[in-house]
Amino acid sequence: MKEIGHWIDGKLVAGTSGRFADVYNPATGEVQARVALATKDELDDAVARAAKAQVAWAATNPQRRARVMMKFVELINRDMEKLAELVSVEHGKTLPDGRGDVQRGLEVIEVCTGAPALLKGEYMNDGGPGIDLYSMRQPLGVVAGITPFNFPAMIPLWKMGPALVSGNAMILKPSERCPSTSLALAQLLQEAGLPDGVLQVVNGDKDSVDAILDNEVVQAVGFVGSTPIAQYIYGRACSNGKRAQCFGGAKNHMIIMPDADLDKAADALVGAGYGAAGERCMAISVAVPVGEKTADALVERLIPRIEKLKVGPYTSGDGVDYGPVITAQALARIKGLIDSGVAQGADLKIDGRNFALQGYENGFFVGPSLFDKVETDMDIYKEEIFGPVLSVVRRGSYEDAVKLVMENQYGNGTAIFTADGDTARDYANRVNVGMVGINFPIPVPLSYFTFGGWKKSAFGDLNQYGPDAFRFYTKTKTVTARWFSGIKEGGEFHFKAMD
Ligand code: NAD
Repeated sequence: MKEIGHWIDGKLVAGTSGRFADVYNPATGEVQARVALATKDELDDAVARAAKAQVAWAATNPQRRARVMMKFVELINRDMEKLAELVSVEHGKTLPDGRGDVQRGLEVIEVCTGAPALLKGEYMNDGGPGIDLYSMRQPLGVVAGITPFNFPAMIPLWKMGPALVSGNAMILKPSERCPSTSLALAQLLQEAGLPDGVLQVVNGDKDSVDAILDNEVVQAVGFVGSTPIAQYIYGRACSNGKRAQCFGGAKNHMIIMPDADLDKAADALVGAGYGAAGERCMAISVAVPVGEKTADALVERLIPRIEKLKVGPYTSGDGVDYGPVITAQALARIKGLIDSGVAQGADLKIDGRNFALQGYENGFFVGPSLFDKVETDMDIYKEEIFGPVLSVVRRGSYEDAVKLVMENQYGNGTAIFTADGDTARDYANRVNVGMVGINFPIPVPLSYFTFGGWKKSAFGDLNQYGPDAFRFYTKTKTVTARWFSGIKEGGEFHFKAMD
């Protein structure tokens, strides 16, 4: 059985804990490897080594650090296919989705190549007699990234790029379900010129996460995953005096107005609801048509489109729309939630529970499901399903639709489909959600903006990537300097004569 260890001081090393987690091929249901789960001692040792390496890295000028990112961009592009396959074989997503996973991470590294411009401080000349003020951004030291299974390339890249180019060392703790991509990225960073020890990839579970949270050297924690864990990590990191930004789960709504192009809205819902088996924090899981006529016409358009979806392993090539879900437990949970939707009275229009694929009987596949007439007290509405299940919640007016979205506990992404600019503008201004799409179903901002939800979708006050990330991974120091040569007796200020 293949054993996956850690990346410490520029080398792949085996774990010493004797504890492992199984890594599945979700398409076949087989265990393809086991990943070592680090102990507190292993984690603390990785942090101590990172702290040593960080000193010289922080003293390397920003332009040189950015050059490592430039080379990293080149190497990711060179290895795009290998990386995409590594994502797909452990996660199960299709190869185009695997490439997309790498690509959306790469775009953040591209922004990091221009980091010196974002790391500049501010300067004021003559703030008082002979007094100049300037501020500088300095790295925090050793920081940590803890990432989820669903984007094995993108989210580690969102973490490591801004943290490293800002002069920090990073402990990256990837998901134990998909550990290999982070190790491959670490090797590419070494090839790009990152000094050994500046990025340590430590595989593990709750034990290693708790060790990160309690390690006094670790200055900041960037987490992405489910809401209960995000909330737990935020609380423990903050009470230990660390900077923390913890991004959690989601329930993203798309409002469909009567004046929307319903064919385009239906196409968008199918892509955003079922793509990557619904395992995206920006997936649309709730469609909110306004008015009964809109709802009937939308459901009529959704059904044939959903029935056409092809589900299969990534090895089937580009003809597959989505693959298996991540584990047998995730599969059972999704099916259980569909059962609950039926028991609680929702109208199950398409039932994906009995989906089977010849030759992949043990894979974690589930067909697409569509519920109509879902109510807010049903579990399928209240919980993040994180599977290929779309719920239609009908509303009689725009105001009622907005109220529904506003009252939901999550606030990651949302979309509105309409032909009316006033309605779209009103929605974007009022809604209490972090990322809004107008006739755009998955509004993941481009990498020079920033990514982050509101309400229970994020804890902490700065977003991921873009300018916010450079603020998160640096601290500001402000210097007030006085030079006496320009000050006359009595405090009056004058410029020196130029003779
Ligand atoms: P998860 O919360 O189970 O795991 C995330 C990370 O936390 C992993 O590294 C895992 O090892 C660690 N972890 C798990 N249980 C822990 C515990 N009890 N104590 C300490 N650490 C623990 O999430 P997941 O299933 O890997 O990912 C899916 C979730 O992530 C979904 O809820 C999805 O919406 C969310 N997500 C959010 C965003 C965002 O930006 N808001 C992006 C992607 C995914």
